[in-house]
Amino acid sequence: MDNLTFNVTGTLVWYYYICKREVWLMAHGLEPDSDNPFIDIGKLIHETSYKREKKEVQFDGVKMDVITDDNGKTIVAEIKKSSRFKQSATMQLAFYLTKLKEAGLEAVGELRFPSEKRKEKIELTPEMEGELEKICGEIKSIVSLNVPPKPEKCKYCSSCGYRDFCWV
Ligand code: SF4
Repeated sequence: MDNLTFNVTGTLVWYYYICKREVWLMAHGLEPDSDNPFIDIGKLIHETSYKREKKEVQFDGVKMDVITDDNGKTIVAEIKKSSRFKQSATMQLAFYLTKLKEAGLEAVGELRFPSEKRKEKIELTPEMEGELEKICGEIKSIVSLNVPPKPEKCKYCSSCGYRDFCWV
């Protein structure tokens, strides 16, 4: 895949913190196992939570859930099934905030974990922006490889939709 024309997405930022091989598989259009119950639960929580408030917005090639609060403030929310992947979720949200900032739009981020009845505000910091710049370059390098990085056993493999690609 052409490193120069390829656009990093929030989903790839999320996977970057979980597994580099997953980044490659996802970016190359390999669909994760649709029978994986963990994927179904995640989708269901995303689709059914905060249905009335949220609006999915597509912007500069990325999709994000946007909510406007009572004070008219724009909130970009990431709805996740648990806080287990908090670092991934935080950086995915930071990625969306960066995209909006580049377009001159001010927004705040909010991580939402409906099954834990918890919300957390995320503010974009210069450290996050620096890290995102670095990892976007790394994601592009991973995606430009002709073959995916070798599988490495990690704590996420057991619930991964790609485990059949790695451990048959
Ligand atoms: S099964 Fe493990 S090694 Fe394979 S893509 Fe998933 S997390 Fe990565």
